[in-house]
Amino acid sequence: MKKVTLFLFATMTLTLANSCSKDSDETTSSTTEAVVIDVESANFLSAGLSEPITIVSKTLSNGKTVDCYKIVVTSLATDHDMGPWCPGNISDDATQGGIWLEGGEVYDVDGAFVKNLATFYKDTQWMMYNATTGAITKTSTKEECAGAAIPDVGTAYKNYCVQCLPSYLGTLSTTYYLPVTPVAASSVISFGGAGPQSTGPSSRGIAFNGVVFDAPAPTSNILAAYTLAPFDDAGGHINLNAGYHYHAAMGKTTQIAQADGHAAMIGYAFDGYGMFQNLNPTTGLAYTDLDASLGHYDDIRGYHYHVDYAGKNNFINSLHGEYVK
Ligand SMILES: [Zn+2]
Ligand SMILES: [Zn+2]
Repeated sequence: MKKVTLFLFATMTLTLANSCSKDSDETTSSTTEAVVIDVESANFLSAGLSEPITIVSKTLSNGKTVDCYKIVVTSLATDHDMGPWCPGNISDDATQGGIWLEGGEVYDVDGAFVKNLATFYKDTQWMMYNATTGAITKTSTKEECAGAAIPDVGTAYKNYCVQCLPSYLGTLSTTYYLPVTPVAASSVISFGGAGPQSTGPSSRGIAFNGVVFDAPAPTSNILAAYTLAPFDDAGGHINLNAGYHYHAAMGKTTQIAQADGHAAMIGYAFDGYGMFQNLNPTTGLAYTDLDASLGHYDDIRGYHYHVDYAGKNNFINSLHGEYVK
């Protein structure tokens, strides 16, 4: 059972306060969010957790201190295979490689894709395989992964297919906080990058397996260094600091089907609002009433997001609610 928190009283107060205002839109938007769905900690798979989920007090981005779930994850997927990423030879088929995201499309990184890179990117400097043997040049040790799987790829790894294997990771535990009850922000919160100037979080949310839905992969940096850092068929890859993380929702992670035929739920954004699959399973089309954050509201799920097309290297555009700083 999901716990539903009703803010009817607050909504009515707001309606009264707004009745003198000429802007009737504000009244409408507050009344349409009467249903707020709490985060359900039992939705997270215990296999992906380093310790049981607990409730702690944390300060939100609006300065208020609220109950939050403390979620400590292993940053490894336990509900699907991780990899493969780089194929071994230009003769390899799609089962031996992962995917690449370009121009809104998802491409299989099979041997032919690697062979065709110079044509694909219209740049003859691409040459990621041995012309005699067909062997694809790729990182093959933890040290090579550490040197190449960074945003600022060195020239030493020019024309490498970059992959880091789960076996390179020690025991990781990464802590995330979600407000138990999502709190709508007065205006949307944009995502920040790394560093002190960051306004919002960099990562977008977490899948039920505890793996993070990360910021877009820095594909322009990766490509500028003539490297490819493929994602596996689940949309994830590994770096030594973050562990396994997603850049695309490929429908391979644990989902919660919706009884009314709505798209399935795949996780939570960092404001505690649910994240759901991209397409409406009934129509096979994307939802057309999404706001700029890629969310909308209904009376069953409250406010929630629908993730972007996998090929977009993106999940959601901004946060609708407050997050734990
Ligand atoms: Zn990444
Ligand atoms: Zn929806």
